[in-house]
Amino acid sequence: MSPRIVAIDGPAASGKSTTARRVADALGFEHLNSGLLYRAVAWAAREGGWLQDSGDGRTDAVDRALPDLGLELVPGADGYVVRVDGREPGSALRDPAVTRLASLLSARAPVRRRVNELVREEARRRDVVCDGRDIGTVVFPHADLKVFLYADEEERARRRLLERGEAPALEAVAAEAGRLRERDAADASRSLAPLHPADDAVRLDTTELSPGAVVDRILREARSRGIRPRHV
Ligand code: C5P
Repeated sequence: MSPRIVAIDGPAASGKSTTARRVADALGFEHLNSGLLYRAVAWAAREGGWLQDSGDGRTDAVDRALPDLGLELVPGADGYVVRVDGREPGSALRDPAVTRLASLLSARAPVRRRVNELVREEARRRDVVCDGRDIGTVVFPHADLKVFLYADEEERARRRLLERGEAPALEAVAAEAGRLRERDAADASRSLAPLHPADDAVRLDTTELSPGAVVDRILREARSRGIRPRHV
């Protein structure tokens, strides 16, 4: 049987990657976080001096560098690690400047092509839970299960702040919500692979749900589609 694919999409900070990781652990599948690959390209563009933090620079140089960029997904004990030309950017992938540039570069066809190639190649070899923006719509339109997560914007902002160890004070929540809104608007309005739920996706509003409840709901959906845990 060909490897199984669970696709989890949704806007920024909707809990996709935490959920995807937990679902993957429960099923004995690998977790593929496609956003990390867009972030890795952005990190490389910054390191290479092709793009400034403002986004100004030579996006054409990024496109040209892509075929030779040593972008790798290396399976580790704790999920995949992203390497770029042998280096591990690690937490630098979460840098706010990298986040902004990732959003900008993800609208470019050569960047999307490169990321999609890598993700699809992994999914040919292993059962995966893959999260992103276009996984159920473009990357794996025939995924065994598609989930689209969303949550109230302020709740997402609050969760993001807590994740970073910052206090969710009113002003901080409003500022973070503004950044999320900007990124979601860019992701949803681009012409290539815009953020939107696949017609056959299970839509889950997680605003009032605990992370465990979200995972349980997805596992129920998986079971009902005949997706069984690997290690049991
Ligand atoms: O998921 P994450 O927030 O880490 O993704 C970073 C950026 O990469 C997003 O803002 C989005 O622009 C882009 N992305 C994408 N398609 C995906 C995953 C991420 O366009 N499948």
